[in-house]
Amino acid sequence: MIHSLIVGYGLAGFHYSRVLQKQYKDFVVFSDQRPGASSNAGGVFNPTILKRFTLAWNALEFFEYAQLCYLDFEKEFGTSIFDKQPIIYSFSDVADQNNWVVAAHTQGLNRFMEAEFIQTSVEGIKENAGYAQLKNVGKVHIQKMLKVYRERVLKNQFYNEAFEYDKLKFMENGIEYKGIQAERIVFCEGYGLKANPWFSYLPLTGSKGEFLHIRSRELSQKRIIKGKGIFIVPMGEDVFWVGATFSRDDKSTLPTSQGKEWLMDKLNSMIHSGYEVMEHRAALRPTVQDRRPLLGRHPKKEQLYVLNGLGTRGLLMGPLLAHWLLQYIDNDLALPPSVTIDRFESYLNKQSSTI
Ligand SMILES: Cc1cc2nc3c(=O)[nH]c(=O)nc-3n(C[C@H](O)[C@H](O)[C@H](O)COP(=O)(O)OP(=O)(O)OC[C@H]3O[C@@H](n4cnc5c(N)ncnc54)[C@H](O)[C@@H]3O)c2cc1C
Repeated sequence: MIHSLIVGYGLAGFHYSRVLQKQYKDFVVFSDQRPGASSNAGGVFNPTILKRFTLAWNALEFFEYAQLCYLDFEKEFGTSIFDKQPIIYSFSDVADQNNWVVAAHTQGLNRFMEAEFIQTSVEGIKENAGYAQLKNVGKVHIQKMLKVYRERVLKNQFYNEAFEYDKLKFMENGIEYKGIQAERIVFCEGYGLKANPWFSYLPLTGSKGEFLHIRSRELSQKRIIKGKGIFIVPMGEDVFWVGATFSRDDKSTLPTSQGKEWLMDKLNSMIHSGYEVMEHRAALRPTVQDRRPLLGRHPKKEQLYVLNGLGTRGLLMGPLLAHWLLQYIDNDLALPPSVTIDRFESYLNKQSSTI
């Protein structure tokens, strides 16, 4: 009997696989490879919230752990997936500049925000109210990381197919699925969790993000740009990821003309270089009502677990969340109250469940 059957291979499924592999546990992954949030994300690795100049929730602990995890991946697989690149922040006005200076002298934030402003112009970017820069941040090549790992580690334990919930058999000490016996299932389905008959009671609200791929020869591939609510992220070969919109109302993955207009308005107010739009796409972020992750064991079916709710910062939170979950499963270590799904147990009784 194997340790875990994992459903879903985005950042959540990847990080949980990785902690199992590190502990020499047997596991298999089922994922249908619909393009989820991870294959559409910008890849920005940033523990600060630039809208408010604060640190994200539990940012420093997540940051330390995640950084080591990506460096360790590079070392183990002899590949480069983590670019330490500055994020150039373009100020909107003088008040924005003043708030930056105050924040940049605050404990914690001072590890990331440079107090000195950039005095020179930035290639392709309008001057507006000037710029400053974030250090110790960067970009993770998510698709490359997932591909390398799948080819090198998961090759004989990956099933490229949708999980059929009605084929799952419960046994006394585990589960059986299509002839595979496992001690448990860990669902890492991103927004796909909404269709899960056991976990759909959880308040995964989801938020749509639209983004563009543009080509420009005048912007630099060496830095990420942030301003006017968008990121411009270098993707190599003169291509940049530009995004993203944020909507809790629209739960489709269809790009809209309003989304494109919004993105291009922001982009045009930020850059003076020429560009060509190559692609316009959308995906759903697995965001949660209270903006915290969803980790834990089903209250009634002890063979079922969930790792979800990575929201807008899967790169930052994913590694430590996966570690916490395995500690909980194997060593019975309690999950932090703010991430455990126990906080939503009352929702289960409200739902007319199909279990
Ligand atoms: C536009 C956009 C930009 C973003 N930018 C960033 C960023 O710059 N930095 C950052 O840290 N985060 C970013 N995020 C957030 C980040 O993408 C998410 O936090 C993270 O990718 C979520 O990973 P996940 O594995 O939970 O879900 P997903 O990536 O959606 O993966 C779930 C996978 O499970 C599969 N699946 C689901 N149900 C089943 C089933 N029943 N059977 C088989 N397979 C199934 C799906 O097909 C999918 O492949 C962004 C998100 C979006 C949408």
